[in-house]
This record gives sequence, structure tokens and C-alpha cells, in this order.
Amino acid sequence: MYQGLTHGAYSAIHAHGTTEQKAKFLPKMVSCEWTGTMNLTESHCGTDLGLMRTKADPQNDGSYKITGEKIFISAGDHDLSQNTIHLVLAKIAGGPQGIKGVSLFIVPKYIVNDDETLGAANGVSVGSIEEKMGIHANSTCVMNFDNSTGYLLGQEHKGMRAMFTMMNEARIGVGMQGLAQAEAAYQNAVIYAKDRLQGRDVTGAKNPDGAADPIIVHADVRRNLMDQKSFVEGGRAFLLWSSKLIDQVHREGDKDADGLVSLMTPVVKGFLTDKGFEMTVQAQQVFGGHGYIEEHGMSQFVRDARITQIYEGANGVQALDLVGRKLALDGGKHMMAFFEIVKDFIKENTGNEALRTDFLEPLKHASKDLQAAAMYFMQNGMKNPNNALAGSYDFMHLFGHTCLGLMWARMAKASYAALEAETSDAAFYETKLATGRYYMARQLPATGMHLARIQSGADTVMALNSEAF
Ligand SMILES: Cc1cc2nc3c(=O)[nH]c(=O)nc-3n(C[C@H](O)[C@H](O)[C@H](O)COP(=O)(O)OP(=O)(O)OC[C@H]3O[C@@H](n4cnc5c(N)ncnc54)[C@H](O)[C@@H]3O)c2cc1C
Repeated sequence: MYQGLTHGAYSAIHAHGTTEQKAKFLPKMVSCEWTGTMNLTESHCGTDLGLMRTKADPQNDGSYKITGEKIFISAGDHDLSQNTIHLVLAKIAGGPQGIKGVSLFIVPKYIVNDDETLGAANGVSVGSIEEKMGIHANSTCVMNFDNSTGYLLGQEHKGMRAMFTMMNEARIGVGMQGLAQAEAAYQNAVIYAKDRLQGRDVTGAKNPDGAADPIIVHADVRRNLMDQKSFVEGGRAFLLWSSKLIDQVHREGDKDADGLVSLMTPVVKGFLTDKGFEMTVQAQQVFGGHGYIEEHGMSQFVRDARITQIYEGANGVQALDLVGRKLALDGGKHMMAFFEIVKDFIKENTGNEALRTDFLEPLKHASKDLQAAAMYFMQNGMKNPNNALAGSYDFMHLFGHTCLGLMWARMAKASYAALEAETSDAAFYETKLATGRYYMARQLPATGMHLARIQSGADTVMALNSEAF
């Protein structure tokens, strides 16, 4: 997290900073001598950043004096680096109301002199360190800015635009964090399932000389492990695909890839972290009661993964971003591009009989569910916006499953090709195919449930008055 935040702050300065700002701050962030943070949240303002109270007063020398309190600031203060470069959202007096009046500032913990040596402390202090459920190795701080010197990053009142450079990157990073927690928990669960002896295989003892068979023989333990394995491998492919698209944007200025990444970012963040957390719980379940005892370390995965669903924009808000903004972005062009990718893949490979039944048909089904959901929003969202918002969470999951379905179909194609070419690693590709078949048969059908929920609209969701709760 420390370096992840530094990377994000680096990217925002790199994209929006002046030549002087880049020269002054970036080299030492790259060398990790200085770290970075992002300061958005205040006690009364999280999702709704327009409510922000932190103030920025313009000074004659072009700098600003920043005053206010931020909470929950990851890596807010620590002794891992010589200086901390805080990126702070604040409002310049007299600017527009709400979110349109928010600007972004570079506020170093220590003033950086012109010769790049460190100067005086900059009025940045820690109010307290948050006591958290997990991620205890990160110093999450209440940060006080008391007339601290800040330098405008980007344009006045366009702070959210600049901050989104950091936030979009961080959202992909958090998606990866959720997936990585699931992967680590899964690896532990596999070791335990092979080692723990309980009960006998119903089809005949597998460890006749032992007191019992290892629990990995039991179908229900297999179901649990296959859920985890098929998610982490599909999710890893999805992240790699997204990362490749980001490279295409950075290196080739590929506008189509940019649109697709923008569309899929809330899915990477929301879907991978929801499922990632769910998988850490499933991995803990493999340990039975021992999973609940701290000695085995499984509860730490659960505690650490939980935050990924909350920070960097709570997952419900990711779903709103997806349905409320991204779906219709540029006239729905990017969503259509996704459907085309799926359609083209299916069309190009229908001649492949083995791929067709186990992979292409389930993928086609999932993609149709996704299209039907998008169509439902188009036809019913205008009548009542809650028809779209009440289905947004399900849409994010429907989309996530379809993405993983596409990833598994692509991996299956590569596996069949490798096996046909008589690869020396046949076992690897056979395992890939079996894992993919599991995902298509046991996970992907969730798209039907999500579609049914979406099509039921907002009526049942909104039926009660607040008093009835
Ligand atoms: C450990 C940790 C580290 C963090 N690190 C940072 C950091 O480095 N920098 C930083 O600035 N912040 C950080 N945060 C803050 C984090 O990003 C926020 O907690 C998060 O964005 C949610 O804001 P909130 O807590 O105020 O919840 P609220 O905005 O009050 O939301 C509460 C609930 O209501 C829902 N909700 C809110 N508005 C809507 C809406 N319009 N429609 C539907 N549902 C809605 C949300 O989904 C959520 O479930 C951190 C938080 C934690 C716990």
C-alpha cells in the first residue's frame, strides 16, 4: 500500500503537474525516498466530496495555505521515508459550490527547498492513528493541515479531474489487492486440505493406512476449492487483460482501449474485491474451527480483504459509477465494443467443437444476459432512475462474471491449441481446461440470477418507508 499510493500520487503529478513540480517532486518518489498519499475523506464527507470543508487560501507567491482535517488517510505518516508528498483536495474561497469548487494541492510534509534539500516542517500533523479491523501494517491517520503550504496541481476547481488520475489507478490496484488476498488464502487452503485427515472418501478410502482420508477427497471441499481456483485464475487473466489495455493507452494512445478500461475499472474494483473477500471466507472454511483461531492466519486474510470492498469508493458506489456514468459514456460506445469483442471471439471460434459446447455457448448465454440487463436500464431507467440504480450492483457482478467467462474461453482456446501442438506441459493445460469448465458450469450461471433481479426493478427494493425499517 505504501508504494501503491506513492505510485498513484506520482501519476497524478506526472499527468497534471508543471515542469517545475515534476522536477521537484517526482525523482525522489520514483526512488522511494519520498512516499505519497491521497487526502479526500473528511469526517462528514466520504462519497459526497462536494461537502468538503478543507480550505485553500491563495498567497501572493502563487502558493496556497491549506487548513482542515482529513480522516482515514492511508500511509498518512510513518518513518519509512524522508518526506511525504500529500495530495490534498480543498476548496478555494469564493469558488463554485459543491464538487465543482474542489481543487487539488501538493502539500509536502517538509517544504522542499529550491536545491531539493528538505526545509522546515509544513504544519502537517497526525491527529490520531485509526484502530482498524485489518491491514494493521498500514498507518491510517487523521491528518491535520494547519496553514500548510500547498501548490495547486492542475487547474483551480478542477481537482476531481486531477484526483481521478490517481483514483482510477488506485481502483485497479485495489482490485488486484482483493484478488491477491484470495490467491494467498487459497494457497493456504489447498495445503491444509491435503494435510487434514477427516472422514473417508465415499467412493473408497484414498488413505487406507491412515486413520482417515485427507479432506480434499470430499466433494464439498472440492466445490469450495474449485470456486476459489477458478475465480483466482480467471480474475488474474482479467487483470492482465485490463493492464494490457492500460499499456496500449500509455504507449500507443489507443482511445478505444482507454474507453474500455474506463468502463471496466469499476468492475475490476467492485467484482474482484467482492469475490476476493468471499473467497478468503471460503478458504477459511476449509480449515473448519482452526480457520477461526488466529494461529493459522486465515482470519487475517478475511480481515485484510474486507477493506478492499470499502475504500477507494465503496463497491455500491462503483456499481453506480458503472451504470450511472460508464454504461452510457460516449453514447454507449464502450459497452458496445465489449459486446463486439465477445461476439467476434465466439464467431471466430465456432468451428472449434471442443470449445463450443463447454465454453462458447455458456459465454454467449452470459453475454445475452448482460445485453438484456443493459436494455432493461435503457427502457426503464428514464421512467424511474431507481430502476437502474436498484439493479446496478447486480449489473456489476453480471458484467464481472461475463468478463471472467470471456477470459476462461480465451484460456481454453490457448489450452486446446497447446495440447494439439503436443506441449510438453500437458498436465498444466488439462488442469486449466478442467478449471475453466468448472467456472463456466458452476459460476457463470449466476448471470441469470443477476438478470432476474435487475429485471424485477426498483418496486420491491423501495417498497418500505424509512420508518418501517
Ligand atoms: C482503512 C481505510 C483506509 C482509507 N484510506 C483512505 C485514503 O488514503 N484517502 C482517503 O481520502 N480516504 C481513505 N479512506 C476513506 C474511504 O475511501 C471511504 O471510507 C469510502 O470512500 C466511503 O466513504 P464513507 O466512509 O464516508 O462512507 P459514506 O460515503 O458515508 O457511505 C456509507 C454507505 O452509503 C453508501 N452510499 C453513499 N452515497 C451513496 C449514494 N449516492 N448512492 C448509494 N449509496 C451510497 C456507500 O456505498 C456506503 O455503503 C479509507 C478508509 C478506510 C477505512
